Amino acid sequence: MRILPIVLALTTSAFAQDLPDLINIYKDLHAHPELSHQESRTSALLAAELRKAGYTVTEHVGKYPDGSQAYGVVALLENGPGPRLLIRTDLDALPIVEETGLTYASQVRANNPAGQDVGVMHACGHDIHITTMIGTARALAAQKSQWHGTLMLIGQPSEETIDGAKAMLADHLYERFGTPDMAIALHDTNEHPAGTVGITSGPALSGATAVDVTIRGIGGHGSRPDLGKDPIVMAAEFIVQLQTIVSRQEDPRDPAVVTVGDIHAGTKRNIIPDEAKMELTLRAFSEKARETEIDGIRHAAKGVAVSAGVPDDHAPVVTVFDNETAPVTYNDPALATRVKSSLVRALGAKQVIDDQPQMGSEDFGLFGLEGHKIPTVLFWLGAMDPAKFAAAQSQGLELPGLHTSHFEPVPESTLRTGVQTMTTAALALLQN
Ligand SMILES: [Zn+2]
Ligand SMILES: [Zn+2]
Repeated sequence: MRILPIVLALTTSAFAQDLPDLINIYKDLHAHPELSHQESRTSALLAAELRKAGYTVTEHVGKYPDGSQAYGVVALLENGPGPRLLIRTDLDALPIVEETGLTYASQVRANNPAGQDVGVMHACGHDIHITTMIGTARALAAQKSQWHGTLMLIGQPSEETIDGAKAMLADHLYERFGTPDMAIALHDTNEHPAGTVGITSGPALSGATAVDVTIRGIGGHGSRPDLGKDPIVMAAEFIVQLQTIVSRQEDPRDPAVVTVGDIHAGTKRNIIPDEAKMELTLRAFSEKARETEIDGIRHAAKGVAVSAGVPDDHAPVVTVFDNETAPVTYNDPALATRVKSSLVRALGAKQVIDDQPQMGSEDFGLFGLEGHKIPTVLFWLGAMDPAKFAAAQSQGLELPGLHTSHFEPVPESTLRTGVQTMTTAALALLQN
């Protein structure tokens, strides 16, 4: 283990030469974001860079349930006997019109799955993750004498739709490319300044479940509500009722969230519509909390319909989408300890923050397989300009976060810290 300080120095000097090129790659990716399921350019760019760095690369890995091919990338670098380490980046962007005003801001528009024309933005920073992977891949290929084992770099599509990791595993990822002994990933954040990282041991991100609810009524003229059953009033009651699931039904020691993010009903002010449709997202850290949420939604929907006197054949429809469900992201405590000590070695203890579990969700945990068979760790990469971060903090404010049109990672120091920490972690894990 005494080699590690020397290794880190080599990484830093190699990276100094690489940095301008990596920043160009980052800005190019940022200006050319692609929606989930559409990552053709992004995956080809990553594949080409990893091939140039000496990796054996396979593209188009992944199959979606409808049979379509995913844009997954797998890059292997074999370096003698030793552990097999999976490092993952995600590839996709979000349907958001970018409003950062940066010179390299995205102007891209694309069609979403519903055929609507939408703006596209790397508002979750997956472009930071891809560029960090390219820098890490180069650094590790240049330092093959410092580690042994096999590197398995994964470019995963469709993280935002939570079906990319699943698609790659369904396409026999591990049967074709080998089963890793451990898997690591990073995600950028607005909650830490660039130059710092955060890590959690145990549950790190909650599980997510997608649910649709359709409240069915009986439509009619807006002037004669007495002749129908108004689904808008029932939907309003239902949403208020939902607020008691977390506050009155859940175990208060087990955090959970129920959010109605989307509601649609009606076409005109004087028409009572036939139905009201809602899209919900649920978050939970345990199966028990998740079941309480789903039961609570079913009971509340049924309850408002019964109290409004809706006939049984118009009962509400509650649909739980198992294909849009993300598991809890669980950081294996033993692996988290090893990764954390390498982060401390790379940056110094002050720059490594012990993070609380978050209510966001990820599909990275799926690479750990059922029952966390393969240990996984995801750590947070600070991405905010330190001066702006400090100024915001002094006013009690937060800088714009993930999934917002003003999310703005500061490229140079974020990428430097990303490559430095990921490379150091990989070197530490590829020693025995
Ligand atoms: Zn995201
Ligand atoms: Zn993300």
